[in-house]
Amino acid sequence: MFDALKEKFESVFSSLRGKGRLTADDVDAALREVRRALLEADVNYKVVKSLIEAIRVRATGASVLGSITPAQQVATVVYEELTGVMGKEPAPIVISPKPPSVFMMVGLQGAGKTTAAVKLAKRMSRSHKPLVVACDLRRPAAVDQLRVLAEKADVAFFGPEPGERDSLSVAKKSLPYAEDHLCDLIILDTAGRLQIDDDLMSELEAMKRDVPPHEILLVVDSMTGQEAVEVSAAFNERLGLSGVILTKMDGDARGGPALAVKAATGVPVKLVGTGERVEDLEAFDAKRMASRIMGMGDMTGFMEKLEQSTTAMDAERVAESFKKNRFTMDDMLLHLEQVKKLGPLDKVLEMLPIPGASKALKGANVDMSRLKYSEAVIRSMTSKERKNPEIIKGSRRRRIAQGSGTSVQMVNQVLAQYEQMKAMMKSIGKMNPKSFKMAGALKNLFR
Ligand code: GDP
Repeated sequence: MFDALKEKFESVFSSLRGKGRLTADDVDAALREVRRALLEADVNYKVVKSLIEAIRVRATGASVLGSITPAQQVATVVYEELTGVMGKEPAPIVISPKPPSVFMMVGLQGAGKTTAAVKLAKRMSRSHKPLVVACDLRRPAAVDQLRVLAEKADVAFFGPEPGERDSLSVAKKSLPYAEDHLCDLIILDTAGRLQIDDDLMSELEAMKRDVPPHEILLVVDSMTGQEAVEVSAAFNERLGLSGVILTKMDGDARGGPALAVKAATGVPVKLVGTGERVEDLEAFDAKRMASRIMGMGDMTGFMEKLEQSTTAMDAERVAESFKKNRFTMDDMLLHLEQVKKLGPLDKVLEMLPIPGASKALKGANVDMSRLKYSEAVIRSMTSKERKNPEIIKGSRRRRIAQGSGTSVQMVNQVLAQYEQMKAMMKSIGKMNPKSFKMAGALKNLFR
């Protein structure tokens, strides 16, 4: 996510870092790079312009130029301004005090609306009993798709009777159905179109009028760049959106929409979709996103993921191996087990505040399907070898390959992965938690 933007920011700030004092020219040169990075990331030019001006005014102030760590101050200003543009405070999902709460999911076809409806239901099912309702009767497969996804995610489903053609009637019927089945949250998956048209809007307006929703969430594909912002503006004008869900942030999305939707429409981004699995939905947090974009990592997200997926015991053991500089094969085995619970390693590690992480991660990814071979390789090592992997040379490699039923090549790969992980753990261990905004989360980790 945001790789291109992140790399740009990293290079801007690393070139500033070398300077003792910044001149106005330095600030200008850095801002030119920042501007280019933002434009390349599909951020609307008006948003970029006002952002750059705000940064320039603050960054060229005397207090910055005269300070001892100017690069850090410029980075802080950029961070704060980015955060401001995306919305300072997280915008929570609104639940009605009087059940049931009704959420309307709207969006263009292919944006990820149906998937997001089930992801959101799954997320809300921690404290609610959601019902997903198939109101997209135009696309023949949409009802089945929702039913299958809901079943897989173990979420209650309501759909049209055979032959039913009126989506509004399905939405209305879902209310008594929800009551009968003790569901306190109704998520309406409405029809999408390839383009915005009047028909679609009228249908959605009628639904809004007859089944008043507490949230109208627009699902937009972040890969569509500028278009995502235009679509948000159009839907907001007709329906009055309460929030936006940006999907496919795991892809090559350049991050522009996350920066521009709020600025252009005033509607907060509430959630982001980060993958195809039902768990891949995160609360949008501007602070977190700004630090992620700038390559400062995302400790809060990392901690949230850890908490969700591991027992307290596990989390403590992971934190322990971050803290000590000694990272052994046993630790790696533990990490591989974590990866199985947390999801792909690149996603988890992407959140860590390691300078240059986006580049380093490219090589360090663990292929999930090969995880079991990696585990087998480590389990075939003696305890002495696991503690001192550097002693694993030719003959030991052959023995381990045989013992684990893999190949010497596989053993070599595991050793290489181990070296990469060790280097990362070392840089995490060395970090000074004070230098990060996410001090609260870090404190827990570095306790
Ligand atoms: P709809 O037409 O808006 O209901 O879109 P769907 O929910 O059918 O999603 C379209 C495609 O995008 C499907 O193949 C989804 O698996 C995929 N998709 C949805 N959300 C995400 C996401 O956050 N990341 C990725 N990688 N794929 C997604």
